[in-house]
Amino acid sequence: MDTEGIVIRIKTPAGDMDSAVDCPSLLNFNDLLVAIRDVMPEATVTAFEYEDEVGDRITVRSDEELKAMLSYYYNTMNEQRMNGLLPDPLQIFPRAGKTPGNRNIHGLKVNTRPNPANDCTQAVPDSMANNSLKKSSAELKRILTNGQISAQDINYQEQLGHGNGGTVYKAYHVLGNRVLAVKVIPLDITVELQKQIMSELEILYKCDSPYIITFFSAFFVENRISICTEFMDGGSLDVYKRIPEHVLGRIAVAVVKGLTYLWSLKILHRDVKPSNMLVNTRGQVKLCDFGVSTQLVNSIAKTYVGTNAYMAPERISGEQYGIHADVWSVGISFMELALGMFPYPQIQKNQGSLMPLQLLQCIVDEDPPVFPVGQFSEKFVHFITQCMRRQPKERPAPNDLMEHSFITQFNDGNAEVVSMWVCRCLEERRAQQGL
Ligand code: ATP
Ligand code: MG
Repeated sequence: MDTEGIVIRIKTPAGDMDSAVDCPSLLNFNDLLVAIRDVMPEATVTAFEYEDEVGDRITVRSDEELKAMLSYYYNTMNEQRMNGLLPDPLQIFPRAGKTPGNRNIHGLKVNTRPNPANDCTQAVPDSMANNSLKKSSAELKRILTNGQISAQDINYQEQLGHGNGGTVYKAYHVLGNRVLAVKVIPLDITVELQKQIMSELEILYKCDSPYIITFFSAFFVENRISICTEFMDGGSLDVYKRIPEHVLGRIAVAVVKGLTYLWSLKILHRDVKPSNMLVNTRGQVKLCDFGVSTQLVNSIAKTYVGTNAYMAPERISGEQYGIHADVWSVGISFMELALGMFPYPQIQKNQGSLMPLQLLQCIVDEDPPVFPVGQFSEKFVHFITQCMRRQPKERPAPNDLMEHSFITQFNDGNAEVVSMWVCRCLEERRAQQGL
C-alpha cells in the first residue's frame, strides 16, 4: 500500500475537519475512531462511512475495511492526478453504529438505491433488490470463496475471442469434467468493489433458461475477474455471414424467449448484439453478457471508452431507457444478420462495436434504415421495422414480440434447422482454413 501522506476530511454536523495523516499505512481503525470522537465528543460514533464513485456509502468498522477504503482512495487519487487534478481529501462520514446482530458480516453491499438505468418500465420489487441480503450466510461464503470452480482447476485452451474489456478462453474444468468458456477481465478495483461485483453476479446462479448461457462461477485472482460459463461450440453470430430467414427465424424465437425470461426477472440485457448471441451444433441459441452487475459494467466502462453501435437512440442520447431499448437492439442485430452488414452504411465497425459518440449521431437523427425491396418476407421486414421504431413506446412490448407473426411462424421447436446450418458453416470455415 502507498505510504504517501493524505488528508482525511471528517464530515461533522458542525462542519468539516481536515487532518493530515503522514503515514496512512500505519493508521488503524481505532486511531481514526478516536480522532472522530475528539471532534464529535457528544456523539456515540462506532463506525464511519465513505462514498464510492457512484455516491454509495460504504461502512468502515474494522482495520480490513479501512484498508479497502484507503486502497479505493489511492486509486481515485491516482486517477485525479492522471487527469491533471489535485486530489480531493478522503471524506469520511461518522455514524452511530448498529448492534453487532444487525451487521452484514460479509461486508457485502447491495445497491438499494433506485437506478434509472434499471427501469424495466416497472420498478424492481423490494424482494428482488434485497435478494442478496436474504441469502444464507453459508451461500454467501461459498460465493465469496470462489463458488464451485477455482483457478487451479482450470486448464486454459485456445483463445475464443477478445471484446471490449475481456478475453474469452475455451477451458477445461478438471473437477467438473466439463468444457467452459472463461471470460477474463482485468479490473483495477478495490476489494470492496470486488465483493460488490461478486454479490451482484449472484443472480446468475438463479438464471435457468434454455435460452440463457449457463453460469458456473466467477472468481477474482489478483486484479482479474474470471467468469466461467457454458461453452458454445458454434460461437457467436457476428462471425457468420448472411443468415437465411428460415434459420434467422428460429434464432429470433430463442432470442425473444431469452429476453422475455430476463425481463421477467427484471433484468435488462443492455448489450444485445450478434456477438452476444451464441449457437451450438445441437441447434441451441443462447444469450450471454447481460448486465446484471452495475459495478462490473461501470468498472469496464472506465477502461473502454465508447458507445455501443447497437444501442437504441434514447441510450445514445443519454436518456432513460428500459425494455424497449433491448427491443431496438434486437431489431438492429437481426437486420445486420439478415443483410450480412451493419444496417447504417455510414457506420463502419472495424474493431468491435464501441464507437465515438459523434459517429452514432445518425442513429439518433435519421430515420431507421430500410431493407432493399423484394429480398425479405413481409413478416420479417415488419418485425424489424417495429423493433426499430424511433419512439421507444411504439416498439413491441414483450408479449407483442412473442405474438408477432414472424416469431409465431418459426416457434416450432425445430432445433435441427439451426443445428444443420451451424454444422455446415463450421465445416465451410474449416475447409477455408485448410483444416
Ligand atoms: P463485448 O466485449 O463488447 O461484449 P464481444 O461480445 O465481441 O464484445 P466478448 O464478450 O469478450 O466480446 O467475447 C469474445 C468472443 O468470444 C465472442 O465474440 C465469441 O465469439 C466468444 N465467446 C464468448 N462467450 C462464449 C461462449 N460461452 N462459448 C463460445 N464462445 C464464446
Ligand atoms: Mg460478449
